[in-house]
Amino acid sequence: MTTKPESAGKPAASTQRLLRAIPKVDEFLGWLVPPPAAPASLVKSSVRQLLESLRQEILKGAPIKPADLSQAALLPRFSALLAARLRPNFRTVINGTGVVVHTNLGRSLLPEAAMESLLAVGSRYSNLELDLATGKRGSRYSQVEDILCELTGAEAALVVNNNAAAVMLVLDTLAKGREVIVSRGQLVEIGGSFRIPEVMSRTGAKLVEVGATNRTHLGDYEKAISEETALLLKVHTSNYRIIGFTSEVPLAELVALGARHNLSVMEDLGSGCLVDLSRFGLAKEPTVGEVVRAGVDVVTFSGDKLLGGPQAGLIVGKKEIIEQIKANPMNRALRIDKFTLAGLEAVLRLYFDEEKAIAQIPTLAMLAMPLAAIDRKAKRLRRLIGKELGSVCAVELKNITSMVGGGSLPEQPLPSRGVALAPLDRSVNELEKGLRELSLPVLGRIEDDWLLLDMRTVADKEVVLLANCLKEVFEDKKQ
Ligand SMILES: *Cc1c(COP(=O)(O)O)cnc(C)c1O
Repeated sequence: MTTKPESAGKPAASTQRLLRAIPKVDEFLGWLVPPPAAPASLVKSSVRQLLESLRQEILKGAPIKPADLSQAALLPRFSALLAARLRPNFRTVINGTGVVVHTNLGRSLLPEAAMESLLAVGSRYSNLELDLATGKRGSRYSQVEDILCELTGAEAALVVNNNAAAVMLVLDTLAKGREVIVSRGQLVEIGGSFRIPEVMSRTGAKLVEVGATNRTHLGDYEKAISEETALLLKVHTSNYRIIGFTSEVPLAELVALGARHNLSVMEDLGSGCLVDLSRFGLAKEPTVGEVVRAGVDVVTFSGDKLLGGPQAGLIVGKKEIIEQIKANPMNRALRIDKFTLAGLEAVLRLYFDEEKAIAQIPTLAMLAMPLAAIDRKAKRLRRLIGKELGSVCAVELKNITSMVGGGSLPEQPLPSRGVALAPLDRSVNELEKGLRELSLPVLGRIEDDWLLLDMRTVADKEVVLLANCLKEVFEDKKQ
């Protein structure tokens, strides 16, 4: 390179020798006989990428010997690089973390019925926006609106891209340029940059904070009401708990206050349960139906948290308000696609029969899974790997705790069973990394120098795959 600044100086003679020993692109291509089964342009750009990374390593002073630049040394490196570029970046993993609604691993898994529906509308034409009764243009929301109303008792409903979008859309519609009263105990950050105060300022709504972090009383809301007030907002603190000396205004009282002052009341429910999960020993979360029955004007919640459906933001409430929201031009920018709609309708239909919902919706099934069923999977996995890995890794069954995840029920411990691994030939961190980098990556968690694989979030049909992954990771080291 001739553009190198003078001050950087010339590379040392040994470095220059190494740089000269890097093969030229055409020379390298000549080594590839037979040529790899990949598009020629991708092969060539991969060669360039490899040679450039060698150059950078040498310039950075990495310990590289001339032998490392030989055909014998570079061809395997090239094959690995090309293979990595040929395999999809976005692929499936095995979730051994025990976090059921794992935000980084795709949150909720869809039930079979939803997958069939996705496949059908993806490969065939559909009545996405056609009213089959009249032959006229219809609205995509109408496919799920009745079902949502039936399941929640709301008068009307609308679905957008996700719950963050739902919150923004409602605030933009009802409170732009006006004031929204929120308790200081509910100024939630959901992760990333979604914080209630920032969302508000984006929509042009003015946040009026009332009360203290731990205690807010009805009188605090009442005192803050003015000519400028547009909305009373309750945010369900789904991802944290305020405990100790605390007080929150019951929803019914907030609704009554709104009615006295002719103000709308909104609840951002976050996780959005349609069934009461306390029957499985989980903490009581308000269901959407309960919030609607309390008289709230508009409720927002996620499609892919405790509901167990696709990513979506569901908005249910009073007809007059939902109509205003539907008419907001922002709605068009936040609309859901046909896959979401197909998946969502199928999932919602399962809720008509609560037992069916719990059995077939993976998120609910995993939360309700009896310990005995988890234990069976753990024992099966140990049986499959025990003999083969016995000499390189200690394998034990342990009582562990799963988490709901997705910012839902943060304090809820779920007793579970895990297969615990303590490798003898490497550190537990190396094992964790090795599993994560397999072509079918496996995610677990490290506790007290054990790698734990929580079998609650590993499906029956994945146990054999997981066993093979574990064998593969130890096989690699032996080579
Ligand atoms: C998760 C959550 C959101 C955001 O929902 P997404 O579906 O992730 O967009 C908003 N509000 C609350 C209270 C939440 O828990």
